[in-house]
Amino acid sequence: MDLLTTLVDKGLRRESPTREEALAVLATSDDDLLDVVAAAGKVRRRWFGRRVKLNYLVNLKSGLCPEDCSYCSQRLGSKAEILKYTWLKPEEASEAAAAGVAGGAKRVCIVASGRGPTDRDVDRVSQTIAAIKEQNEGVEVCACLGLLSEGQAARLRAAGADAYNHNLNTSEATYGDITTTHTYADRVDTVHQAQAAGLSACSGLIAGMGESDADLVDVVFALRELDPDSVPVNFLIPFEGTPLAKEWNLTPQRALRILAMVRFVCPDVEVRLAGGREVHLRSLQPLALHLANSIFLGDYLTSEGQAGKDDLAMIADAGFEVEGTDTTTLPEHRADALAGGGCGGHGGGGCGPCGDGDGAAEAVAGDGARADADASAAGEARTDLVAVRRRGAGTELPPNA
Ligand code: SF4
Repeated sequence: MDLLTTLVDKGLRRESPTREEALAVLATSDDDLLDVVAAAGKVRRRWFGRRVKLNYLVNLKSGLCPEDCSYCSQRLGSKAEILKYTWLKPEEASEAAAAGVAGGAKRVCIVASGRGPTDRDVDRVSQTIAAIKEQNEGVEVCACLGLLSEGQAARLRAAGADAYNHNLNTSEATYGDITTTHTYADRVDTVHQAQAAGLSACSGLIAGMGESDADLVDVVFALRELDPDSVPVNFLIPFEGTPLAKEWNLTPQRALRILAMVRFVCPDVEVRLAGGREVHLRSLQPLALHLANSIFLGDYLTSEGQAGKDDLAMIADAGFEVEGTDTTTLPEHRADALAGGGCGGHGGGGCGPCGDGDGAAEAVAGDGARADADASAAGEARTDLVAVRRRGAGTELPPNA
C-alpha cells in the first residue's frame, strides 16, 4: 500500500502524517490489518527496538471523586462497586510499588482520585515519593493527581517526581460531552505546568467512548502538538454503574488500528498500552507490542488486569524484552531535550485528571461510520471481561505483579 510506505518513511524521519493519512489508517480493512501492524512496527523498532517498558499503578486514593468524568468508575455518582479508600500511608504505597518493581516495573505511577491536590496533599505525596524512591532504587515515579495549581508541579519535581500524567482523553470538540466539571483547556494547562517544572509529561487518550474517527485523529494530533514524552492509549472499560456502561464498541482489530495511528503520529514517543488492553484486544494483545513500547504490569486503578506473570510470558513469547533500568527509554534526541529542560521533538502540549480507562458511561459523542461499523461487529456487552479490583493497594490481599 502506498499509504503504508509513505507513513513508514515519515515515521523514520519523525515527520507528521497528514490528517487524511491518519484517518486512512483508521479506515483500513481487516484484510490489511497485518500490513498496518507490520508498517507501524517498523517505526516502533526504529525508535525503541524490541524493548517493552513496564509500568506499575498504585492507586493512592480510590473513589468518591467530586468530578463527573463519564468514563470513570470513581466519578461523582458512580454505582460501580469499586474499592473506596482514602490516602494510603507512604509506607503502604511504597510496599505496593515494591511488588511492581520486583515484577519488572521500571516506573511506578501513583494516582489519586479527585479534581486536583491541595497543598497538603502535595506534602503527603512528596513523602510517598521519598518512601518509594528510598525502598526502590532507580525507580521512576510518575504522579497523577489531577489538575495542578500554581507551584505544585515544581514542588512535586523537587520532591523527586520524574513525570506527571494528565490525559487529554478525547478531542476538544467532544470534551464537554464526557465531563462537565472541568474543561479541556484545564487539562492542557496542567500538562504545560508539568512540562514547565521539568517533569516528563505523560498524556494520552481513551478510545471507545463513542467518538468518531475524526475525534480520535484530533486528540492524537493535539497530543503531538502538546509533545508529551509518553502517550498512554486507553480503551474504555465499560464499568457497570457508570454512564458509559453500554459503550462496547471496540473490536481487537479497531484497537490495533488506533494504536498504529498513534504510532505513526507520535513515532518517537513512548506509546503506552494502558487500561482496557485485556478487555478489548483479548487474544490479539501480542500484536499490540509491535505498536506500543510500554505497558502496565498487573492491575489497573479499579479493575484487575491479567496476571503479571502472563504479561511477562506474553512479552517473551512475542519476541520482545523487558526494558531494564540501565536503558534510557526515550531515543537520544528526546532524552537529551528532556534533560536540558526542553520539550523533545515536536511542538507544545497537555493532558487531564487521572483516568487510566477505568471508567464507563453511555454513548458520548461521535458518529463516525467506522465506529458504527465496529460497534455492530463488536456485538454484545462483555461484562464477563471486567473484574473489579479486589486485591493490592487498599486491601489485605497481595497485589498482582
Ligand atoms: S478521571 Fe479522575 S477526576 Fe475524573 S472522575 Fe475519575 S478520579 Fe475523578
